[in-house]
Amino acid sequence: MRKIKVYAPGTVANLVCGFDILGLALNEPCDIMEVTLLDEPKVIIHNRDEFNLPTDPEKNVAGVVFLSVMEKIGGNTGFEVTIEKHIKPGSGIGSSAASAAGAAVAANHLLGNIFNTDELIQFAMNGEKLASGVKHADNIAPCILGGVSLIRSIHPLDIISIPSPDLHVTVVHPQIEVRTADARQILRKQVLLKDAIRQWGNIAGLVAGLLKNDLDLIGRSLEDVIIEPVRSILIPGFDEVKASCKEAGALGGGISGSGPSIFMLSKNETTARAVEAAMKEVYERLGIAYYTYVTTVNQKGVSVEEITIVNH
Ligand code: ADP
Repeated sequence: MRKIKVYAPGTVANLVCGFDILGLALNEPCDIMEVTLLDEPKVIIHNRDEFNLPTDPEKNVAGVVFLSVMEKIGGNTGFEVTIEKHIKPGSGIGSSAASAAGAAVAANHLLGNIFNTDELIQFAMNGEKLASGVKHADNIAPCILGGVSLIRSIHPLDIISIPSPDLHVTVVHPQIEVRTADARQILRKQVLLKDAIRQWGNIAGLVAGLLKNDLDLIGRSLEDVIIEPVRSILIPGFDEVKASCKEAGALGGGISGSGPSIFMLSKNETTARAVEAAMKEVYERLGIAYYTYVTTVNQKGVSVEEITIVNH
């Protein structure tokens, strides 16, 4: 029997001006999944954490992805998985994407790497559909590929990896609930042309800044005139956090995914720690519990380790 251990990183989607089209992978937090291949067509899920996620495969993101792989290959193949979640569901740092991407990569590894990356992203998007009602790849692509991903299109799938400088990322997760459905519902259906022009200038600037290693350009381009002004009202302390993080030296940042987490990019660890202190100061003052992470961009995406099982 073969068992593998899979590390699936958290991700920041909706990179400020890159709503639905840009995401990056984090080195921390990271989910761990242990997966074995079964010789009968079923999916067994165990949870090794306190989140009480469903173990019914149809209701768990990882289960849905395994089922979609099984439907594709047919025959008597199944999967047993133990999920140790470190990315809190609903945090906005890609908890569902980590399970979806981890399951797709694990299944592929155990089956002898028969699928390409685009196929893995397609399988994993079935999991995102379960979690948020829509297929989107801005968490899944960076989770699988590492680094920064540009989702130019999902129909047909067209994903581009953008090389990036060694950026440091500070994330604060205030312990409040922002329902993804609410965060989607409050968005305006129409935008002004002048806002659209400013936004696509920023997106192009951000991508160019990443490619050219131009930190000032990255900082100038981390501006969102369409989504953030509407969504940030769901996150207490957002404007204060942003202002004091910039003062502490952050290049810029914004809402991670659909919130409530907020992320900031910095050029080095010292600044990233000063940014963390600024975030803490705001939430201490507001009396809202929070977690913070000071980490770097994960460049390798989901990774797989073989586990040797010794039979006594
Ligand atoms: P995030 O942005 O942190 O991924 P979402 O709101 O998109 O948060 O997804 C979390 C939702 O998906 C929750 O309702 C959770 O119960 C559900 N879910 C089902 N299976 C999983 C899983 N394996 N990992 C994370 N969330 C899951």
